[in-house]
Amino acid sequence: MRTQIGIVGAGPAGLLLSHLLHLQGIESVIIEARSRKYIEERIRAGVLEQGTVDMLVESGVGERLKREGLVHHGIELRFNRRGHRINMYELTGGKAITIYAQHEVVKDLVSARLAAGGQIVFEAGDVSVHGFDSSTPAIRFQSGGKTQELACDFIAGCDGFHGVCRPSIPVGVLTEFDRTYPFAWLGVLAQVPPSSNELVYSYHERGFALLSMRTPEIGRLYIQVGPDEDIHNWPDDKIWRELQARLAAEGDWKLTEGPILQKGITPMRSFVVEPMQFGKLYLAGDAAHIVPATGAKGLNLAAADVRILSQAFAEFYSSGKTQLLDQYSQTCLRRVWKAQRFSWWMTSMLHRFDTDSPFDQRRQVAELDYLAGSRAAMTSLAENYVGLPWD
Ligand SMILES: Cc1cc2nc3c(=O)[nH]c(=O)nc-3n(C[C@H](O)[C@H](O)[C@H](O)COP(=O)(O)OP(=O)(O)OC[C@H]3O[C@@H](n4cnc5c(N)ncnc54)[C@H](O)[C@@H]3O)c2cc1C
Repeated sequence: MRTQIGIVGAGPAGLLLSHLLHLQGIESVIIEARSRKYIEERIRAGVLEQGTVDMLVESGVGERLKREGLVHHGIELRFNRRGHRINMYELTGGKAITIYAQHEVVKDLVSARLAAGGQIVFEAGDVSVHGFDSSTPAIRFQSGGKTQELACDFIAGCDGFHGVCRPSIPVGVLTEFDRTYPFAWLGVLAQVPPSSNELVYSYHERGFALLSMRTPEIGRLYIQVGPDEDIHNWPDDKIWRELQARLAAEGDWKLTEGPILQKGITPMRSFVVEPMQFGKLYLAGDAAHIVPATGAKGLNLAAADVRILSQAFAEFYSSGKTQLLDQYSQTCLRRVWKAQRFSWWMTSMLHRFDTDSPFDQRRQVAELDYLAGSRAAMTSLAENYVGLPWD
């Protein structure tokens, strides 16, 4: 097998890259470890920045997103049992976020790639990357009971945090920047219409809670739990009790409960690797960086990386120039670090830390109170939340 760009991983990064390359007339093949069904049902992120939505729509894969996505103009911060709305639309000159589940984006991209004759190898085993420091890069994998090799000009490592591409780069090339947080998120998908039209981020003495949604019928809710918490210690009624306590508000607002369809625990971590490239191997999305979910940036950063990477490949194939490819890591990292800062800040402001002193707790509430009362502070949150400009 031979192609121009060999892509490892059919998550949002790999699929969107393949789609954007196709629009530029550049061939690619995606090698994915899981089945199509698995990746199309994997529940993960769901908040799309304005720029991500625009890119999906402009590149022709936004039809269902426009029809079914829920456009939100604001979010609510809740503390001391009172809600404070941040009108992001007004503060950013007309930008919004769209609630549309990551696995729906994946479905749209898979079907667009396959409809255009794109090749995705699902359920590939023993995937490994070779020769990316030479002129003959290749991806090797097992498929249909045989060892196969995909020869390519470049390899895009879009295989997520636990993939093979990043660890294949020789020791000493990469520097890792890492922060783990002393808590995780217990997330549930519940068959219940969301009790608020917009996301509610709640700071509470029992810990952080987030009320979110995936559709008008399906709620997505999270609570802060210990980093080593076992999901088996969380029967559904205990989760609803905790959500009721942490989201409680003055007045007649009520959290409606419903059957829990899925639940899981996600660790909170900040991680960046520098540089995001070595030879002819380019890392994109979670393969290069992860953020705590509080800022809703993971999927959006993956989209931003592959936008830059597709432009760099387009420049190379149209003119032979490697300037954009050479600058890929540097260009991406500027946005990555701003998203890291924002995600860390939201996380630090809204969660309870074991080490918090009464001073820290008063300071957190003062920060929220300042935010809720200052147009300048709200604007800063809003412009980061809807997504900073591309350049
Ligand atoms: C459990 C979980 C919950 C999350 N929840 C949220 C959330 O609520 N909000 C939010 O903003 N973000 C969330 N995120 C982050 C967000 O989903 C990611 O940032 C996003 O998926 C990044 O896309 P990606 O394509 O870079 O990586 P991924 O989506 O991880 O895709 C990588 C792909 O590579 C494949 N792969 C892995 N190893 C190999 C291999 N060796 N060979 C071939 N293929 C391989 C994987 O199967 C996968 O399909 C969550 C992440 C996780 C893990």
